Amino acid sequence: MADFKTLDDIGDVTGKKVLVRVDLNVPMSDGAVADDTRIRAAMPTIRELSDKGAIVLLLAHFGRPKGAKNPTQSLSLVIDGVADVLGHSVMFIPDCIGEGAKAGVAVLAPGDVAVLENTRFHAGEEKNDPAFADALAEIGDIYVNDAFSAAHRAHGSTEGIAHRLPAYAGRAMEAELKALDAVLGNPAHPVAAVVGGAKVSSKIDVLRNLVGKVDHLIIGGGMANTFLAARGVDVGKSLCEHDLVDTANAIFDAADAAGCTIHLPYDVVVAKEFAANPPTRTVNIHEVAADEMILDVGPAAVEALGDVLKSCRTLVWNGPLGAFEIAPFDAATVALARTAAALTREGSLISVAGGGDTVAALNHAGVADEFTFVSTAGGAFLEWMEGKPLPGVDALRS
Ligand code: ADP
Ligand code: MG
Repeated sequence: MADFKTLDDIGDVTGKKVLVRVDLNVPMSDGAVADDTRIRAAMPTIRELSDKGAIVLLLAHFGRPKGAKNPTQSLSLVIDGVADVLGHSVMFIPDCIGEGAKAGVAVLAPGDVAVLENTRFHAGEEKNDPAFADALAEIGDIYVNDAFSAAHRAHGSTEGIAHRLPAYAGRAMEAELKALDAVLGNPAHPVAAVVGGAKVSSKIDVLRNLVGKVDHLIIGGGMANTFLAARGVDVGKSLCEHDLVDTANAIFDAADAAGCTIHLPYDVVVAKEFAANPPTRTVNIHEVAADEMILDVGPAAVEALGDVLKSCRTLVWNGPLGAFEIAPFDAATVALARTAAALTREGSLISVAGGGDTVAALNHAGVADEFTFVSTAGGAFLEWMEGKPLPGVDALRS
């Protein structure tokens, strides 16, 4: 784990130009930053370097300009948002490489913070073109990567540059890597994983990776229906990928071979339509009618799953147990999330969760702050759950 350097190792940065890769790909509304979560995540690193007298140069992508300049995807649009969170002014430099960038950097003083223009305005960024990475590296003295969310991509500003300058993990990156290592790298056993969401097809590689690593694999959400169907359960009108029954059986076999227990619901909440508060029934999985859909895990199964978590020391969670956006199909996700939060609070469980809808569900349950760590990294989090190497992380390893 401790095979990459952090800001603790960076030494004297006074007057040094530090290129910090951050995630500024924030949602906008009416020309202003609509959600500053990602900006806030980068603050500990930005403040620490600025306080130490570094010239802090923020590198980021914004949208998908595909290698061409596009004023609607200029990072100048987020400057005010960054300054608001930082509490003082932030410069904007209208290019991230070349003379334009150098001229902008030249006027900065120690402690200043600047945002460089969208790295994706250059085609070399996404191609990880060596010439582009060379040009980026010319702008600074030191590289810090604080954007775990972009680490699954081998781009110039996430990967190429790390081989050209002394490279360090920023505080947010460090926290993310430590949390992920604590649940799947070197976890305390027993380890439970909760995998939910709509479809098996989007998470086959996650499931395959997890059966070899965790002691308990809890499968919920729409994807549980495919596993139930593989076991011969008639799931009625439920979302179910019948063409993936063989895949589900292969995952059952792999789990058996690895000594991983797969937990599927044995009671479920069903409805005839997917709408708010429709008439529902809570039934045994063998009692789903032909015109009904399974939309949530039932209360008896949720209680049993809570007992599984009580017997575990580590939990990794991706995907809601039911169609949580619509009441009352949020009940199982909320209940199990609260159990996990309580166990974490008591100190008996290390809990890490990630995924767009998962984060929304934990916020909805009011427990996101009580988990040990909640990753907002999306794609990078899923690729890590799949056991794939992350180029942006690997490039930081010495
Ligand atoms: P994440 O974004 O956290 O990775 P996913 O995108 O995989 O999660 O899954 C979330 C989606 O799964 C939600 O839109 C939710 O409504 C849906 N879902 C969960 N359970 C069911 C179910 N039983 N039937 C249909 N959709 C479901
Ligand atoms: Mg999702």
